[in-house]
Amino acid sequence: MQVSVLGAGTMGHGIAQVAAMAGHEVTMRDIEAEYVEGGLEAIESNLQGGVDRDKVTPDEMAATLDRLSGTTSLAAAVADADLVVEAVPEDMELKRETVAEVESLVADDAVIASNTSSLSVTEIVSALERPERGIGLHFFNPVHLMGLVEVVVAEQTSESTRAFATEFVEGIDKTAVEVGDSPGFASSRLGVALGVEAMRMVQEGVASPGDIDTAMELGYNHPMGPVELGDVVGLDVRLDILEHLREELGERFRPPQILRRKVRAGKLGKKTGEGFYVWEDGEIVGASEDVMDR
Ligand code: NAD
Repeated sequence: MQVSVLGAGTMGHGIAQVAAMAGHEVTMRDIEAEYVEGGLEAIESNLQGGVDRDKVTPDEMAATLDRLSGTTSLAAAVADADLVVEAVPEDMELKRETVAEVESLVADDAVIASNTSSLSVTEIVSALERPERGIGLHFFNPVHLMGLVEVVVAEQTSESTRAFATEFVEGIDKTAVEVGDSPGFASSRLGVALGVEAMRMVQEGVASPGDIDTAMELGYNHPMGPVELGDVVGLDVRLDILEHLREELGERFRPPQILRRKVRAGKLGKKTGEGFYVWEDGEIVGASEDVMDR
């Protein structure tokens, strides 16, 4: 199959890589040649990492790279595509314009998918003349390591588009879950619900971040506790998602004050060196001092 991926950033290059590894011919498009190059280099480096760890053979790596190409031309990227996956920045207008332009360039039966993590897929694909060919394919970061893809079925998605998308996901060795186009889909809604309750517990002094995380890791077998996960994702990102879910789903997603204070103070988690934990070189070295005294 011919797959076209729009955006060569964090998600775009990951999606291009897994599609090419599964045997599809893949064209990745970004707006600047240097971004395309950056995406291709990131894929090569991921594959080399796989070879070094004996997860990928040198032949598989070479064949995968052979099936991949990059371009800045949208027309060239989508010309022969059976499936187009957009992974451009999370902006409704940009996504609507992108899918509409794609539709004017692709074959009549091509499926057009969005990798949005929070926007309404129904609203994105309503920019299409034939919205029944539109669907959400929500991949997780890092794409080559994460096994899940949410297949987000929009109001307009046809049965054949849904079946095609689910088959594609299974064919690239991922597990598909089908979800309706509801805010936060299945994964973010539940993950964020756990995260926000954990922050409230820290705020109320029920337990320290470390003890809450240990409880979920050892008691429920979560690979990472909810407070640490918030720090890893970024507390600013968490706050944005909570505001969105609160608007759509109600007060149970109201962001706690402790989260707002952290974000105002620039304590955004791992990426700034402090959130609920203190981080050095990507590792937790202690708890943030302001979490236990409120
Ligand atoms: P990113 O900023 O790393 O990459 C976006 C890329 O799109 C950039 O390279 C940018 O130059 C390019 N771009 C901008 N306009 C374009 C256009 N018109 N055509 C082609 N490329 C264009 O962003 P990302 O983290 O890869 O996120 C992309 C999408 O994936 C967003 O919708 C995001 O919500 C979603 N998503 C992100 C994650 C994550 O963990 N980062 C997880 C799931 C879904």
